[in-house]
Amino acid sequence: MICAEDHGPTCSDIRERLREWYAHHHRKLPWRKTHDPYSIWVSEVMLQQTQVNTVIPYYLRFIERFPTVLSLAGASLQEVLKLWEGLGYYGRIRNLHKAAQQVRDNFGGAIPQDWDSFRKLPGVGDYIAAAVLSIALNQPYAVVDGNVKRVLSRLYLMDTPVNHFRAHAIYLEPARMLLDTGNSGLHNQAIMDLGAMVCKPAAPNCDVCPVRMFCKAFNSRLIADYPRRLKKLPAPQYPVAVGVVYREDGRVLITRRKADGLLGGLWEFPGGKIGKTESAEDACIREIREETGILVRVQSRLTQVKHAYTHFKIVMDVFICRYVEGWIQLNGPSDYCWVTLDELERYPFPGANRKFMSLLKP
Ligand code: SF4
Repeated sequence: MICAEDHGPTCSDIRERLREWYAHHHRKLPWRKTHDPYSIWVSEVMLQQTQVNTVIPYYLRFIERFPTVLSLAGASLQEVLKLWEGLGYYGRIRNLHKAAQQVRDNFGGAIPQDWDSFRKLPGVGDYIAAAVLSIALNQPYAVVDGNVKRVLSRLYLMDTPVNHFRAHAIYLEPARMLLDTGNSGLHNQAIMDLGAMVCKPAAPNCDVCPVRMFCKAFNSRLIADYPRRLKKLPAPQYPVAVGVVYREDGRVLITRRKADGLLGGLWEFPGGKIGKTESAEDACIREIREETGILVRVQSRLTQVKHAYTHFKIVMDVFICRYVEGWIQLNGPSDYCWVTLDELERYPFPGANRKFMSLLKP
């Protein structure tokens, strides 16, 4: 038993201190004003990979537009993606949208409240299932996210690197032992808040920490050594060329990415990776020809933008192009459209495209 060893600190001592601390210091967040499983589910999906302050305005807009799981299920993917535009990790919202449709079609519109049924919905992993079922319904599931792992690693001097592929399973064990099963939702939020507000990555504020007397890292002056992390390899960087292709009537060509995969369902300006032996202009013409079947000529270079994804970075050369000849025959994209510059705002675009779109003056 992790909690009962050494000098007598028990799980119940830690739980009690967390409970008291949370009552006075918890973060006032919009999704904490409700016990509605759908609203909490939306917030937890948004919070995966994204900072709280970034999520708040997205959450408020999303819940205003889609206040129920049925309203989300009935919306088009494009409308849903547009509201999500800029949050990144678009697989999250495609899955949430699909899951809402399954709740409508298979559960009569009521979010299933048992672990097995909820966990089977698209995009619902162990973290989301534990967070929603504990916070909304007070079911006894422990959550393990980055904040929780950091607190536990310091509290118990756990050596498993927090970014190890087995870290979730390994940290789940002490998280379960520590869980306040009668107050699971509050307990989980308390330990996440402690990690976010006090036990911060670089400079934990141990002076105000409610569990300081139980913390092995604090008591052995090893805070700087925990949590352990595996070193990441530097992300590869790819050169990319895209073209804003103008037709004679002033409309520009945009294409839609296939529904699955990176940035699935979003619209973009056509283009792709630059080959090792070709110029950016040649790559732009070739990629547009391969993806859409039309021939274009490069008129001028608009700009260059850099963008980082989770596992790689891109350096994107953007060209203004003119349509020359040919019929659209898609090879890769799922759809295309010739739009005016004013109409671009209606479509969801990836962040890398948004970085240069303000340069396209109507
Ligand atoms: S005492 Fe410091 S290191 Fe230990 S849990 Fe609290 S804030 Fe984190």
